[in-house]
Amino acid sequence: MYDSVIFDHDGVLTTLVDISLLHDATWAAFDELGVVDPDPEHVRQMVIHVTPDDVHTVADAYDLDPETLFRVRDEKSSAYQCDAIADGLKAPYDDFDAIRRIDAPMGIVSSNQQATIDYVLDHLDATELFGTAYGREPSMTSLHRKKPEPYYLEQAMSDLGVESPLFVGDSDVDIAAAHAAGVDSAFIRRDHRADHTPSPDPTHEVSGLDDLLAIDGVPVATDGGRTDSSSAGDGVTR
Ligand SMILES: [Mg+2]
Repeated sequence: MYDSVIFDHDGVLTTLVDISLLHDATWAAFDELGVVDPDPEHVRQMVIHVTPDDVHTVADAYDLDPETLFRVRDEKSSAYQCDAIADGLKAPYDDFDAIRRIDAPMGIVSSNQQATIDYVLDHLDATELFGTAYGREPSMTSLHRKKPEPYYLEQAMSDLGVESPLFVGDSDVDIAAAHAAGVDSAFIRRDHRADHTPSPDPTHEVSGLDDLLAIDGVPVATDGGRTDSSSAGDGVTR
């Protein structure tokens, strides 16, 4: 049996935002830093899949401190995503409530900002559902720790006091992080992954969170699930 289930967040528990929103957030970060006319290519470099080299290259071009550039970039990215959550543009998937039937500790390991994850859980009144929930801290150190590195997954396992979680993700880095931590993985094939061939090979593949309940080894409550967290009446479109 799995002794816990740990989830990636974006594209697993909540829908993805349009990339244009993250572009807008990055433009706002340059503006806040006093860079009024950045090279659009530099902006693009700071939107997603940012590496430490990217941050140094872009910071050097405008004589900015790399840590400051990255922190402000992260703050704006999180603020724009929190607004999207509040506005219902980013919402839990329709099958979110299925995980309430999982009868084992649960956690989140996301490469989104910690501030974004904290906001989502508070907004959904779902904080109590997860024993631990990791995003990244807004520093460049986090770029060396995020998935596919197992750092945050191992932290989450330690927090929960578990050894054999199932890690559920929608990206290759999720499967790779599980692999690096020596735990099983489930690739969730949401619509945005319709044609994706996951690599490395996941232990399981599911089409949605409902399917997790049918995986041999995932503990499922027979009494209808948890009642310690409300999912209704929060104004979120599902
Ligand atoms: Mg994801």
